[in-house]
Amino acid sequence: MDFSIPVERAAELEDFDVFLKEKVSSNLPTWNREGIVPRSFFQMMGNAGWYGYRWQDERLVKRPGLRETLLLERIAKLSPGVAVAVLIVSDLGLTALNLFGTDGQIERFGAGAVRGENLICFGNTENLAGSDAAGITMSAEKTNDGWVLNGSKAYTTNGLVSDLAVVTAVTEPEAPRNRRISMFLVELDSEGISRKKLNKQVWIPSDLSRIEFNQVFVPDDHLMGNQGKGLQQTLTVFTNSRIPISGLALGTAAGAFDLAVQRARSRMVFGRPIAEFQSKAFEIADFYARLEAARLMVYSAAVAMDSGADFRFEASLAKYLSVEIAKELCPWAADLFGAASVVREHPVHKFPMDAWAVSLAEGTQDVQKLVIFREIMKKRFQSDG
Ligand SMILES: Cc1cc2nc3c(=O)[nH]c(=O)nc-3n(C[C@H](O)[C@H](O)[C@H](O)COP(=O)(O)OP(=O)(O)OC[C@H]3O[C@@H](n4cnc5c(N)ncnc54)[C@H](O)[C@@H]3O)c2cc1C
Repeated sequence: MDFSIPVERAAELEDFDVFLKEKVSSNLPTWNREGIVPRSFFQMMGNAGWYGYRWQDERLVKRPGLRETLLLERIAKLSPGVAVAVLIVSDLGLTALNLFGTDGQIERFGAGAVRGENLICFGNTENLAGSDAAGITMSAEKTNDGWVLNGSKAYTTNGLVSDLAVVTAVTEPEAPRNRRISMFLVELDSEGISRKKLNKQVWIPSDLSRIEFNQVFVPDDHLMGNQGKGLQQTLTVFTNSRIPISGLALGTAAGAFDLAVQRARSRMVFGRPIAEFQSKAFEIADFYARLEAARLMVYSAAVAMDSGADFRFEASLAKYLSVEIAKELCPWAADLFGAASVVREHPVHKFPMDAWAVSLAEGTQDVQKLVIFREIMKKRFQSDG
């Protein structure tokens, strides 16, 4: 498999670095203080063509997953919180619209979504249903010309800043678990919707909101995909976003690693830079090696996704390994900064918490292990007695 980054992609990445420097770096302190990624940034991303989809011939066209993964890695090095806000737009909202939006929904919202004007978030998780996605209780009751939604989505990233939400609700309460849920595209200014921003300590400055639905009417044409197939559709969206979010996890680890190495080289303790103590030098070597191994896994998973092959196994391997290294490396990096690392404004401060956050989203590490185990059994031991 060829993992080299094509020349045109490398040039694109340089352009993206300039974009990040101009549009993100200088604004981050303000965004972090205010706890919001402004809508103007989402539009700049869209107008510059940095999302995972483009609009062509009145259709959404997916850009390569490797490109998306590389871009998210780069944003996350700077700010995992900004990266997740972008991931939601690109890899949950737009992906759901592309895969399960009706022609009418795509025609109405697609072009604006690609430009970062119609922001779409994704709400599945409820208080009593996260990993067990089939356990949701939000209901959608049929009326003559639509549906009435009641319930709440407990943790929705970009919930406050978005215009639309893809949500799941139970439409067939008596049906088996895999046929009782449907997916809807809901305008967030609809009557009966209220949103509350949660006070979180991870992935700053993205917003995480609770969305309440109280007798919210949506017309029939707001159903996405097939009635009763909402669970499968949700899991498909999560599988598609698992490789991009692995790029985000890699960037989280790599951002912390770069800071740690700078610190180890410059900070003098007992008359020598920290890096000259062999125990620390070995830690740097060990983390570098493991980070590179995870990176190869993530890029090879992205190549598999772009080839059109079944990439479920690779996606879970990529998420599992990239998150494991981020969870170990980030607290180590913070530790190298000693007391300075506990100050909220310090650049290294965010990384340990953001590594924890990425372990929870798009399937926890346990969920990845369940998928990996099942795929091992299917792929590797299918023919064994
Ligand atoms: C910062 C942040 C942003 C988020 N944004 C969104 C969003 O935009 N939209 C959205 O819908 N959701 C979002 N979520 C929710 C996220 O998807 C869920 O937190 C995740 O699916 C886990 O669900 P849970 O929190 O209910 O934990 P649970 O599912 O209750 O898991 C609790 C523990 O049990 C373990 N566990 C669960 N099942 C098994 C099993 N079968 N075997 C072994 N162990 C198991 C888990 O690994 C975990 O350790 C967000 C979460 C966070 C933290």
